[in-house]
Amino acid sequence: MIDVLIIGGGIAGIETACSLQDLGYETIIVEKEKTIGGHLNDWDTLFPTHRSASEVLAHYTDETRRRALTIYLNTNVISVKKQDDGSFEVHTSRDVVFRSKTVVLASGYRLFNAEKKEEYGYGIYDNVITSADLEKKLKQLNGEFKTPTDKVPEKIAFIHCVGSRDEKSGNHYCSKLCCVTAVKQAIHMKQLCPNANVFCCYMDLRMYGPGFEEMYREAQEKYHVQFIRGRLSEVGENANGTLQLKVEDTLAARPCKIQVDLLVLMVGMEADKSTELFQQSCGLQCAPNRFVKPKDHHIGSNLTNIDGFFTAGACIGPMSVFDTVNHAKAVAFSVRDYLNATK
Ligand SMILES: Cc1cc2nc3c(=O)[nH]c(=O)nc-3n(C[C@H](O)[C@H](O)[C@H](O)COP(=O)(O)OP(=O)(O)OC[C@H]3O[C@@H](n4cnc5c(N)ncnc54)[C@H](O)[C@@H]3O)c2cc1C
Ligand code: SF4
Repeated sequence: MIDVLIIGGGIAGIETACSLQDLGYETIIVEKEKTIGGHLNDWDTLFPTHRSASEVLAHYTDETRRRALTIYLNTNVISVKKQDDGSFEVHTSRDVVFRSKTVVLASGYRLFNAEKKEEYGYGIYDNVITSADLEKKLKQLNGEFKTPTDKVPEKIAFIHCVGSRDEKSGNHYCSKLCCVTAVKQAIHMKQLCPNANVFCCYMDLRMYGPGFEEMYREAQEKYHVQFIRGRLSEVGENANGTLQLKVEDTLAARPCKIQVDLLVLMVGMEADKSTELFQQSCGLQCAPNRFVKPKDHHIGSNLTNIDGFFTAGACIGPMSVFDTVNHAKAVAFSVRDYLNATK
């Protein structure tokens, strides 16, 4: 029987395996995709330093090789069953069943489906894209930046809180990272298209982390990104493919219309579907926002309601890379304490 089975090979899962190996434990990572790295595979640069996401990924890829970590790719964990002896039986999509003393869930998050906000025109108008689409576009950029309808944009708007803090979407919580992601992407767009007018339409600005507020200031002072406190109500398309936004300016208390070439929707982060599966198969408790509920928010955020079943990274809620890596390092000690106590 293995010591620790880690569900998910994103940065949380890999960092967990590295930290546990340093403590002398045998681990395996089970990843449903054909490659490790999770969402970072799609991101271009990372806030707050604008460092390339590929550089962080390369660090983890090198570590998996150097440490000869055991990773099962293309393998989806579909259920986890706790056994009478306290161990876990882990069932996968490939009919392989693992036995493990402990489980660390590192299944991350998924993105809000922007098509649900029909009035914003995603999936209807070509020049409406999401923040995740923009990351992928920037990552693959080869030459001049152009909109999906092949125009160098002169006006670009970023809309905050798409699928977060929104009763209609069923997500009351704040996704925490989309404000700073918008600032990062707005700066990037100004660097690529210096003549473009770039707007961010926000409800509140949440610059909670180290370096975030500084980026926000830089966006205004150095790059002249405009921040409008307002709520988008509707998007329409003009005959030439540009978009017309109806925005309620909540500071000036008046409606305004903005014409743009490109609209970027800052989509929120939602609990990954697999947390639901583990709720059903082993009684894992989730919070009202559907992310895994930590056993103790202050002194046990890696623990769950099930002894021997731990969490690392964004499966407990929106988390930056910095916080994810720290959360994953911490889980190694929780697992060690548990294995020592149950020897
Ligand atoms: C648009 C956007 C831009 C961002 N930009 C930044 C940034 O600039 N800087 C920053 O610090 N953070 C950024 N983030 C946040 C960053 O993406 C997260 O911090 C990071 O991805 C969390 O890593 P994770 O390993 O917890 O989750 P994930 O990256 O979601 O990885 C989870 C892994 O688990 C796998 N998995 C899930 N379920 C199963 C299952 N049942 N069986 C097997 N495998 C499974 C998935 O395939 C995936 O590989 C951004 C987020 C968004 C939405
Ligand atoms: S981080 Fe900003 S954009 Fe994201 S949900 Fe919170 S307030 Fe809205």
